[in-house]
Parts: sequence; C-alpha cells; structure tokens
Amino acid sequence: MQGAWKVEAGSNVKLQDYDPDYVDEHTDPALARAELEQLGKELGELQELLAAAHHHSLLVVLQGMDTSGKADTIHQVLSRVNPQGCEVRSFKVPTSRELDHDFLWRVHRVTPGRGVIGIFNRSHYEDVLVVRVHNLVPQEAWSRRYAAINDFEHLLAQHDMIILKLYLHMSYDEQERRLLAQQKNQTDAWKVTIADWAERKYWDDYQEAYEEALSKCSTDEAPWYIVPANQKWYRNLLVARTLVSTLRQYKDEWEAQLVERGERELLLLAQLGHLEQTGNRENKRSKKAHGAT
Ligand code: AMP
Ligand code: MG
Repeated sequence: MQGAWKVEAGSNVKLQDYDPDYVDEHTDPALARAELEQLGKELGELQELLAAAHHHSLLVVLQGMDTSGKADTIHQVLSRVNPQGCEVRSFKVPTSRELDHDFLWRVHRVTPGRGVIGIFNRSHYEDVLVVRVHNLVPQEAWSRRYAAINDFEHLLAQHDMIILKLYLHMSYDEQERRLLAQQKNQTDAWKVTIADWAERKYWDDYQEAYEEALSKCSTDEAPWYIVPANQKWYRNLLVARTLVSTLRQYKDEWEAQLVERGERELLLLAQLGHLEQTGNRENKRSKKAHGAT
C-alpha cells in the first residue's frame, strides 16, 4: 500500500469496509522508522521548493476522533519541515465573535498563502461533524454545508492551493485503550477530559457523520484519504507517503519556475549593469563638460 486510501469523488463510504488496524505485510516498525526519516527529509526539500517557487500553497486537513493522533501525526511527520514555512491551526469551539459570522469565516482567514504549508488540526469539517451530532444548528442549516464546503475548497484550489484531507481512522476499542493508558500515565492524565468519555457515547453518530462528509466532500481537487490509525507507526508512515507523493508531482514544475525566475533576474541584473556603466560614463562626461577635475 503506497499511501492512505483515497476516497474517489462520488463514492459512498462505509467505514466498516476500512480496517483501522491495517498494516501492510512488507513493513514493520523499524523499516517504517527508516522510511519515515527519508520521507521527512524529502518533505523538507519539497517544502523549500514550494516556498521558493511561491506559486502553490499546501493545505493539509487532519480530522479524527479524540486520541486518534492528529497532533502527534503533525509532530512526527513534519518534524523535518522548516517551521518558517509552516503554519499549524487548531479549531476549537467557536467564540461568540466567530459564531456571529458564517462557519467558513474563521477558516478562510487562516488558509495558507502562496509558498506556505498550512496544517489544520480539526477544520471546517467540525461544522458537519460535532455540530451535526449535537444538533448545534438545525439540520436544514448543516445539510447545506456540504455544498458550501465543496464550493469553498474549489475556490481555494482555483487559487493554486493543493488540498489534502486526512481522516485518521481509529477503532472504538482502540480509543478506549488510549484513554485508559493516558489516565494511568501520571504525565499524560491531563490530556483526558470528561468530554472525551462523554463523546464516546456518540461514536456511531460520529461515524455516520464522517461517512457523509467523506462521501460528499471528496473531490478531485480536494480529496479525502482514510488513514488506518490504530498502529501509530503505520499511520505516520502513510501520512508521510501521501504528502510526499502528492508534492512530488509538482517538483519539476517548481524547479522550472525557479530556473525561469533566475534567468529573468540575471537578465535584469545584466540590464542594470549596462545602465550603471552608461550612467558612469554620462557622469564623467558631464563633469568634464563643466570643467570638474
Ligand atoms: P481539542 O481538539 O481536543 O482541543 O478539542 C477541540 C474541541 O472543539 C473539540 O471537542 C471539537 O469538537 C470542538 N470544536 C471544534 N470546532 C467546532 C465547531 N465548529 N463547533 C463546535 N465545536 C467545535
Ligand atoms: Mg480533546
């Protein structure tokens, strides 16, 4: 398996068809660590090119249930990327100011600009996930949002944003193991909140909401990927492979853009040099004409 499972546009996702425990038989944690190291380096190089070419931006949307490892994935996969070219945004319960606007307002303003990698830890998809599961707005309001999201992402893509959306697919039992393990660990216990246990009661509703979001909002220009996430080492590897294989497709284009820009700059420099020489001569001539020594 080269990368995460891509959701083809128009497909009808049933999450039970995807095994959260999946690992491919040719990989083990040690091999994965070595490959991740290589991919991390390559990602760093691709990010430099993306920044220098300054034409595209990259948006990576990370979604998944509590403890599925969104923050850890960011840490593990992007550790080799220059922090200067990277922005991580987390989306929490909206503030009252944010709620005074449409649901995309707070999102659009923090999308990455040209040359920048933007990582969303949660995203506008919360507005068809937690909002739907808890009826935070009426159904007629959230059901319109899938189309609004597709239009929004289409707009971003039209402005040269490369968009990848990753759903970290973890099982119900694995979540329980992780919550219990965190609670037992003195320095991790702070991570667990009552809300995490309370949200588990809505597991099936969340899975259904995810299925609908993945089915309705996977498009060619902003595809969803399902990442089997029970095994953390495999999850990291698949996320890294997916990012790198997407960016590799642009490498030649970015390099060509850089060469072209370099040539333009050299031409300008040559012209400037020519002007400077002429300018110097003109200066000397006018000084002579005025009898200056
Ligand atoms: P965490 O990611 O653990 O820091 O938690 C952030 C919390 O904010 C989660 O419980 C999300 O469900 C919640 N959240 C994020 N976006 C929204 C939203 N648009 N509406 C309501 N709750 C949200
Ligand atoms: Mg949480």
